[in-house]
Amino acid sequence: MPADALKCKECQTTYPLEARYVCDRCFGPLEVAYAPLTSTPEELKRRIQAGPHTLWRYADFLPLEGTARSALPTGWTPLVKADRLAARLGLGEVWVKNETANPTHSFKDRVVSVALARAQELGFQTIACASTGNLANAVAAHAAAAGLPAYVLIPADLEEAKILATGAYGANVVAIKGNYDAVNRLCTELAGDRADWAFVNVNVRPYYAEGSKTLGFEVAEQLGWELPDRVVAPVASGSLFTKIARAFEEWIDCGLLTGELPTMNGAQAEGCSPVAQAFAAGTPVCRPVKPDTIAKSLAIGNPADGPYAVELAQKTGGGVDSVNDDEIRAGIRLLAETTGIFTETAGGVTTATLAKLATRGDIDPSERVVLCITGDGLKTIDAVRGTFEVTEIEPRVEAFDAQFAVGAVA
Ligand SMILES: [Zn+2]
Repeated sequence: MPADALKCKECQTTYPLEARYVCDRCFGPLEVAYAPLTSTPEELKRRIQAGPHTLWRYADFLPLEGTARSALPTGWTPLVKADRLAARLGLGEVWVKNETANPTHSFKDRVVSVALARAQELGFQTIACASTGNLANAVAAHAAAAGLPAYVLIPADLEEAKILATGAYGANVVAIKGNYDAVNRLCTELAGDRADWAFVNVNVRPYYAEGSKTLGFEVAEQLGWELPDRVVAPVASGSLFTKIARAFEEWIDCGLLTGELPTMNGAQAEGCSPVAQAFAAGTPVCRPVKPDTIAKSLAIGNPADGPYAVELAQKTGGGVDSVNDDEIRAGIRLLAETTGIFTETAGGVTTATLAKLATRGDIDPSERVVLCITGDGLKTIDAVRGTFEVTEIEPRVEAFDAQFAVGAVA
């Protein structure tokens, strides 16, 4: 689909397709607007199905001028039917979108693929970002694959696994003495001074955000070109949450899908829940908070797309809930024990939120539910420390038998 312009989400003023992210007139956020599609749904479906098994199969719906490609293939992650998880929660049909299968083990590879491709079209030679960790990994890896220098700015208290994995790709890792919101502010200032740097989630953010739609497209295609009844997804900035729904809307509009938007449930950690608090208060205004949670990848205290996330949850009859750190750890274990998928704390938040909705009786057994698991558990290994026991024995059969008697099942 040919991108037409950048358009202000608030006042609808349009701008050329440049590295620009804020409306000059009202300071509203800009997003990509597309010209109407001229292809029939059958033609679109044929092109998608003939495309690569990466997110570029959805090129018709992404904001690039040329043929999209990237050196590090991303997307087309498994959608796993999670019957044991559904049974445990008393639900009918649950599917897990397993984003840990991306090259750097989180959904951030999607947004970075699209941002980097567009940045290269716009002539940028250096890639940078403000990150809570997963984005840093993705920027470092995709820049390495493309042969571009990368600068990743992160809060200094980030999980070591995320910092080490980022440094290994050869990126310049800059730890900022402050939280994510301070890192983001600094990047916004730096982006003003460095006109030849693409900060993926600052000055090329409108293109970056479009990458999240591909998760929604994949879910619908993998369900046999059908919409789920409900989606449970994490909310940090609110961008992923709203773009999944945007993907469904675009495909309903062009005739690839029929039906209504699914019920959209957002998931936040109690220690950083400005969007859940706004939803509970019945207002789109998200009052900034100081994050204090083990779910560091969701620790955005001042979420840029928070108001749009609240409105989407309201519009679809969903909600935005929050769960505490113990519930997050239990969520990680629940998903791992019932599906074999080990997720990071953000996935614990999402799984715990699904469990909360199920316990509350909010989900009808006839519903088809999709749970978005956005990152890998090896990145936040500390979260499961102490949640299970390891049996240590001498290397002798009697010692083993003493612990695990023949015929007994532990
Ligand atoms: Zn505006």
